[in-house]
Amino acid sequence: MNPSEWFTEQLPGADSAFSLKIKKKLHEEQSAFQFLEIYETETFGNLMVIDGCTMVSTRDNFFYHEMMSHPALYTHPNPKRVWIIGGGDCGTLKEVLKHDSVEHAVQIDIDERVTRLAEIYFPELCESNGDPRAELKFIDGIKWVKEAEPNSVDIIIVDSTDPVGPAEGLFSKAFYHDCFNCLSEHGMVVQQSESALYHLKLIGEMRGAMASAGFGHLQTLFFPQCIYPSGWWSATIASKASLAKFRELEAANKPFDTTYYNVDIHRAALAQPEFFKKAFSL
Ligand code: SAM
Repeated sequence: MNPSEWFTEQLPGADSAFSLKIKKKLHEEQSAFQFLEIYETETFGNLMVIDGCTMVSTRDNFFYHEMMSHPALYTHPNPKRVWIIGGGDCGTLKEVLKHDSVEHAVQIDIDERVTRLAEIYFPELCESNGDPRAELKFIDGIKWVKEAEPNSVDIIIVDSTDPVGPAEGLFSKAFYHDCFNCLSEHGMVVQQSESALYHLKLIGEMRGAMASAGFGHLQTLFFPQCIYPSGWWSATIASKASLAKFRELEAANKPFDTTYYNVDIHRAALAQPEFFKKAFSL
């Protein structure tokens, strides 16, 4: 087998790797912030890679984008103002805008090149960018949140790269503290929280930092994501208000199409594995 026909992401901490057979490399560039690559794969459509890490594929991005948005939007009582920090491929923005309650959704990605490449290679993820409720900003999300006024947003979705490079500060207590200050009364942060199998320590640190920033209610949801390390991913919600219930009736009658999310998937994603409960005394 010719290794040059495969894209492989190695996971040094876990001594494992994930590979996709590629047809060709469509693009590569060094942006001001990171190294961006786009491949055409044999079976997963197009693949975006940032600094050697898989980000988005045509075939399976729906798991991640739907689970980063709909559970939180169906938990908040009335989400009108949503910010997406990172998320430059625009897939999360598209899901957020499916909710009629949303009046304004701002995507704040540090790297405009990610969005420009998504427009070319993942046009289906960018099809809501022209929605009058959508706003795209290309600045550092850490700075954006730090400078925001109190009570200026209902949900902050942190759809970032891993906690290295420009995204490192998005996993810090100082950042969660700034989020807490600009969120409204029932406000919540949703953050992609990596793999519970491979990154349990990171999830523990994240949950600890969220709690010490003032968030009294935490919830980690689980979902499949085969192109990410271990194939099993998570999102963690940190909320000012109770997370005991979500708007199940509305989720059951959602007026838009999804590929993965539905009310049963939402309930199932809330089930906590035994090792996870033990790790965090849940
Ligand atoms: N779903 C992906 C994952 O979990 O691997 C994340 C995809 S999305 C493309 C990640 C985005 O986060 C990138 O476009 C990157 O530019 C952006 N990003 C990283 N650090 C950032 C920061 N400090 N502020 C805003 N955006 C940031």
